[in-house]
Amino acid sequence: MFDALTDRLSGILDRLTRRGALTEADVAEAMREVRRALLEADVALDVARTFIDRVKERAVGVDVVKSVTPGQMVVKIVHDELVAMLGADAQTISLAAAAPVPILMVGLQGSGKTTSTAKIAYRFTNRDRRKVLMASLDTRRPAAMEQLATLGTQTGVATLPIVPGQSAVQIARRAMEAGRLGGYDVVLLDTAGRTTLDEALMAEVAEVKRAVDPHEVLLVADALTGQDAVVTARAFDEALGVTGIVLTRLDGDGRGGAALSMRAVTGKPIKLVGVGEKFDALDEFDPQRIANRILGMGDVVALVEKAAASIDAEQAQKAAERMRKGQFDLNDLKEQLGQMQKLGGMSGVMSLMPGVANLKKQLAGANLDESMFKRQAAIIDSMTKAERRNPDLLKASRKKRIAAGSGTKVEDVNKLLKMHRQMADMMKMMGKGAKSGRGPLAGL
Ligand code: GDP
Repeated sequence: MFDALTDRLSGILDRLTRRGALTEADVAEAMREVRRALLEADVALDVARTFIDRVKERAVGVDVVKSVTPGQMVVKIVHDELVAMLGADAQTISLAAAAPVPILMVGLQGSGKTTSTAKIAYRFTNRDRRKVLMASLDTRRPAAMEQLATLGTQTGVATLPIVPGQSAVQIARRAMEAGRLGGYDVVLLDTAGRTTLDEALMAEVAEVKRAVDPHEVLLVADALTGQDAVVTARAFDEALGVTGIVLTRLDGDGRGGAALSMRAVTGKPIKLVGVGEKFDALDEFDPQRIANRILGMGDVVALVEKAAASIDAEQAQKAAERMRKGQFDLNDLKEQLGQMQKLGGMSGVMSLMPGVANLKKQLAGANLDESMFKRQAAIIDSMTKAERRNPDLLKASRKKRIAAGSGTKVEDVNKLLKMHRQMADMMKMMGKGAKSGRGPLAGL
């Protein structure tokens, strides 16, 4: 799975990383190719579109961070957005409920539901040392009940004895009762599947759900069916409310679209993936790891992360130095304004640098725009050296001179001085915390 996508993406991104400078057009062109690659991997159209928009938005002005190339920055952004698309954090099945914890397995016939039930039981039993009971609720297919019983024997997991003639709800209740009496930790209920979605199936599963109030409702879907798996998941979720997805056959030769779109389309986390027919062929779905695997560029991502961290540290240290000296004059303010002006056009990259990003947030109320930065810089440029170092010198006549010199109004000069005072106060306050060794900006 993902192989074709990996080939395509690494080709596109590799070309980007080898370029010295990138224009917006370069990024746009690369993103067109990424979009095509995603669509060919069977990613849902909306998901691909949103992904590209987000990457482009973040990538604007990407060339400002030193020690990494703009292309490398784009790789990092693509990586981050891929992780976000896959669901950010790895999530697993929760057993945090009173024992026996009921878990309902739902899905279409042939999706790998029964196999996944046995795999999960096997994992809980052997890895987590839980006492597990499995029960098949497939009243229409005796073969399905037999299959689960066989899997139970093979995995060494208990299965509920088969009593012919009972309804799905009766079996589910009996399973919970047996679970309570037998001191089981978990009861896995393997519901009946159909080859297609139908109302009778949903109604039956919904009835079982009401009867046992499961702690998890896990939808099993076949990754090889691509977008159909996503559509199925959405339908099950709307009808039943699922808590997570088990995506099977990730070991197969599919394009990966289901794995890539599932979270974004359904809003439900993929909790486990099936990667083979054996009982232990079950993996956690870790968005970070999958993104690394898909991009095959973990080293570039690590490099950019390191560079961003060191820039953050460097800036924090410089500011800390000024603070330590008890200085934050108008020269410093101008430098800060210059930095923010630079950063104004690269909001995406900023999010990599927590200290700076937060400083900007802090000042966002000041309505930061390009012309304002220029005006403020002009005001400071119209001051004498002595005035910049000691703003207290600025009485009415000097302010008038500065306003005239910078083509602004006295009111603008006052605003700038007020902003400086506030920043100086803030820095003084933060400076008291700087003894801890953290720079003031790092704490902002
Ligand atoms: P059910 O009808 O949904 O219960 O489907 P089954 O559990 O009977 O699975 C159908 C077939 O798919 C069986 O042959 C399983 O061995 C196979 N299968 C299930 N999960 C996986 C998987 O993750 N990878 C592979 N390669 N095969 C799987």
